[in-house]
Amino acid sequence: MPPKDYYALLGVQRDATDDAIRSAYRKLARQYHPDVSTEAGAPDRFKEVTEAYEVLSDPERRQRYDMFGNGDGAAGFGIDDLFNTFFGGDARRRDRGPSRGADLRLALEIELIDAVRGAEQEVLVPRLETCERCAGSGAEPGSSASTCATCSGRGEIRQVQQSVFGRFVNVSACPRCGGTGRSIDRPCTTCRGEGRERTERRVSLSIPPGIDDGQQLRVQGQGEAGTRGGPHGDLYVLIRVQEHPAFRREGDDLFHVLRISPAQAALGDETSVRTIEGDQAKVKVPAGAQPGQILRIRGKGVPRLGGGGRGDQLVYVEVVTPRSLSKEERKLYQRLRELGGEPEQQDGAGNVFDRIKEVFAND
Ligand SMILES: [Zn+2]
Ligand SMILES: [Zn+2]
Repeated sequence: MPPKDYYALLGVQRDATDDAIRSAYRKLARQYHPDVSTEAGAPDRFKEVTEAYEVLSDPERRQRYDMFGNGDGAAGFGIDDLFNTFFGGDARRRDRGPSRGADLRLALEIELIDAVRGAEQEVLVPRLETCERCAGSGAEPGSSASTCATCSGRGEIRQVQQSVFGRFVNVSACPRCGGTGRSIDRPCTTCRGEGRERTERRVSLSIPPGIDDGQQLRVQGQGEAGTRGGPHGDLYVLIRVQEHPAFRREGDDLFHVLRISPAQAALGDETSVRTIEGDQAKVKVPAGAQPGQILRIRGKGVPRLGGGGRGDQLVYVEVVTPRSLSKEERKLYQRLRELGGEPEQQDGAGNVFDRIKEVFAND
């Protein structure tokens, strides 16, 4: 066998630095590693570049190779050790049979009304599906996967090493079949031997009434397809609830602002407010209502997730002073002023936030 040109294999100059050699190998190893690559001949290329790197990264062996054209003599450590050193993975821990697909995560933005009522929605999920052409085997129809000749189907290679400490058995994943024990002679043209293909699936989602921003729905079996017929992973949908222009959610309650006139505040009134569901609810403004006072409409809030009633609508009273007055209104306000009745001056009283706190304390 003629000596291989290790420099050419790694695509570096003969005077390349250690760093240049390392980064060239890193790039090629990523490209050809059997776990990653579906290119024909990738496992062999991976073996070659690894061999080249083993020699050129060792100063002594590199020198010997430069002088004599070979770097043999010290089959130090296995391919996987090298790979692990670089990428931190454990190439040996591989599943050879069917395995479950990965879980998928996506976020879905919904309107507040959908969070209140619940909704059925469809989401488009990009995911790996078992390839229909080869039914997940990775082999072109009419051909079949055969037992890997390099490892005889065991998926791993054992090397016995002699060292000053004694005999070692070094077990590493078979570089040819990537640890699967099978080799595919004619890879499926659709999935290129992967057994799965990337598709988009519509998944219908049942959003339960009462769901809140930041909660997650789990849809069983709607994640990625497993390998070699293994089960699908799950789909996790993170719910994001859009802000509503008129309602602010606080737990199971919904805040809403009611604007009233000074006369309504002073005399009290029966009025109606809209609810999140779009209908009107009656609300009684008591005589002497104060700005910032909170009126409670029972059962018009958000349903409790999983049943058990619903929260309240909390009506925040805003007293709006008229900006312009008709002649008659002006006369009446003047009369009111003559009658006196200005509020007593106090320091630090009537904090709106204290009142809000009070409301929650009564829950
Ligand atoms: Zn296929
Ligand atoms: Zn093999």
